[in-house]
Amino acid sequence: MVVFILLAAMSGGSFWVAGQKRPKAKSQKDETLTSHSRDALTPEAREMVELASAAVCRERLTDPKASVPIDDMQGRPSLPVRSPEAVAGAQRAQRLLPTAKTLVIASLKRLASDYGIQKSPIQTRRLQRAIAHVSAVRNIRPDVDSRDNASVFMRNPRTIVFGTIFLAGLPSDEGILSVLAHELVHIADGSEDSLALLFAIVGSRASQLTSLKIHSQRAEELTCDLVGAMVARSHVAASPSYEPIQRRLSRALEHNCVNEDEGDDDHLSPRNTIRALLALNPSLSRELVYGR
Ligand SMILES: [Zn+2]
Repeated sequence: MVVFILLAAMSGGSFWVAGQKRPKAKSQKDETLTSHSRDALTPEAREMVELASAAVCRERLTDPKASVPIDDMQGRPSLPVRSPEAVAGAQRAQRLLPTAKTLVIASLKRLASDYGIQKSPIQTRRLQRAIAHVSAVRNIRPDVDSRDNASVFMRNPRTIVFGTIFLAGLPSDEGILSVLAHELVHIADGSEDSLALLFAIVGSRASQLTSLKIHSQRAEELTCDLVGAMVARSHVAASPSYEPIQRRLSRALEHNCVNEDEGDDDHLSPRNTIRALLALNPSLSRELVYGR
C-alpha cells in the first residue's frame, strides 16, 4: 500500500517499529521512468499502468469513503482517541484484523509459489515462521501521538499501534485492510528477516518492469504494499456489494494520490508506488480500468 512504512532497528535490536511515514524531500532523478531496461514494460502495458493509476486518483475525488492522501494526512492537527472518526477507524481495524491476517497469509503463500520460493526447505521454514508471527497478532491500539503512522513494537508484537489521523484517513474497509496487511507483512518478516528473499525478488522484478531503483528497504516496503493491494482485491472479490469494483479497489491505493510526490532512500515516491504495484499486477490494472 502502498503505504510508507519505516522499519527501523533501535536499542540494540530489542525494539523495532514499522510506521507509516511520509518520505522526506529528495531528488527524483533516480525515479525517472525510462524505456531502456531490457525487461521493461511494453508501451501497451505502460499505457495500461498509467490509465489505471489515473483511474485510482480520479475515483478518489468522488468517493465519500475515499482514503486521504498521505501528504494531506501529515498536515492535519492531532485527533483525540475518543473522536468519532478515530473510534470508528479503530473499530473497523479491529473488526478486519482477522480477515487481514487470513488474507495476508494466503497472499504470502501465493507470492512464494509464484516466485518459486516454496521449493526450498529453508525458505519454507522461514515462510512458516513468518506466518506464525502474523497469526499471533491480536490487537489494534489507537494512539494520538503516532498521528499518521502505524507501528509494531517487538516487546509487544501482538499489537499494531495506529495513529488516530491514520485511522480517520482510511474510512473504508478496503483502505484499512490494505494498511493492516502492509503492517502484518513487516511483522511476518520480524527481526529474523524471514521474508528477505521474497522482498529481493519482488524488488528486482519491479525494478525490471519500471526501471526504478527498488532494492533493500524500498523492496520490503513495496512488497508490503503489494500484499496490501492483493488483500484488498481478495476481500473485494469475496464480498460483493453494489459499489463499483473500481471504487472499492481504488481505496487500497489512493492514499498515494499526493500533490507532493517525493520519495527517499527507503520508499518510492507515492505515485511511483502506485505505478510499480500496477506494473507487478496487470490484472489489477485491468480491473481498475475496465471493472473486470
Ligand atoms: Zn512499511
